Amino acid sequence: MAEIIDGKRIAEEIKAELKIEIEELSRGGIIPGLATILVGDNPASHVYVKNKTSACEKLGIYSEQHTLPKEIKEEELLELIATLNKKPNIDGILVQLPLPSQIEEKKILSAILPEKDVDGFHYYNVGRFFCEKSYSQMKKEGLFLPCTPYGIMEMLLRSGLEINGKEAVVLGRSNIVGKPITLLLLSANATVTICHSKTANLKDVTSRADILVAAIGIPCFVKKDMVKRGATVIDVGINRINDKIVGDVDFAEVSKVAGAITPVPGGVGPMTITMLLANTVTGAKRRKEVYILK
Ligand code: NDP
Repeated sequence: MAEIIDGKRIAEEIKAELKIEIEELSRGGIIPGLATILVGDNPASHVYVKNKTSACEKLGIYSEQHTLPKEIKEEELLELIATLNKKPNIDGILVQLPLPSQIEEKKILSAILPEKDVDGFHYYNVGRFFCEKSYSQMKKEGLFLPCTPYGIMEMLLRSGLEINGKEAVVLGRSNIVGKPITLLLLSANATVTICHSKTANLKDVTSRADILVAAIGIPCFVKKDMVKRGATVIDVGINRINDKIVGDVDFAEVSKVAGAITPVPGGVGPMTITMLLANTVTGAKRRKEVYILK
């Protein structure tokens, strides 16, 4: 039976570290602040935003939530972002995706100031981490890394699982998970292959992986014959089936061959929220640097 990579526990460990940093910042008069924007009435998005707000409260991060009707015009949303960009007590702005069809996602994400882009989706931040060679350097420079891939990296490293020199395979090429985790694993010296819906002989590719990341959004897609014995399997998938959440990996069978595996729920999910908090604290630290420079 595989070792279970406990995302909840690792997330708590990181939150305890963040709490110390937040207390230190608040002694210097700075309370980290996060603004979330939710457009429309997608029930899953409501839950995500609520979880993010309550995680902020627990840690002493100021948070404000802006809920807008789904018919809102693009200009109105841009105006709100412009206002939040100027607010000195807000270090991070998060626009919950997906957005209604009348709003162009790219335009909205690029309207957030790069120094408040705690989701790490702004072209500037994507470019910065694309150009950085090593993961440790990215962290040292306090780059805003996209939360889910950032969480996966911390999970692997804090569990003592080797990345350096390993063969990694990523299933899925989305901008929020597949592509960025590919780059981050590369920056930690893995040899990485990225797969998608047109990949030929998928099973042959995934069976080579020492580290297999599944981010495709198909319940229980990864079966045990796709996984090398002893591999580390990271399941990013969140699929709702009759009120139950399952991942992209068939946990019951894959956990019998894998060396280590993340559960769903309780794996990548809690890490994603925690890295959002970490990015917000990083933003607040920059605010402090600005004060010192002044
Ligand atoms: P997308 O739908 O944006 O991308 C899915 C990717 O999977 C695409 O690249 C697609 O390929 C690929 N794919 C689809 N079918 C296959 C197949 N049969 N074989 C190989 N590849 C395939 O998904 P996201 O990256 O946004 O999300 C993936 C999953 O992760 C979802 O379940 C989502 O809910 C979850 N998620 C979880 C998070 C967390 O915090 N735990 C955060 C973000 C997402 P192609 O490009 O060719 O279409």
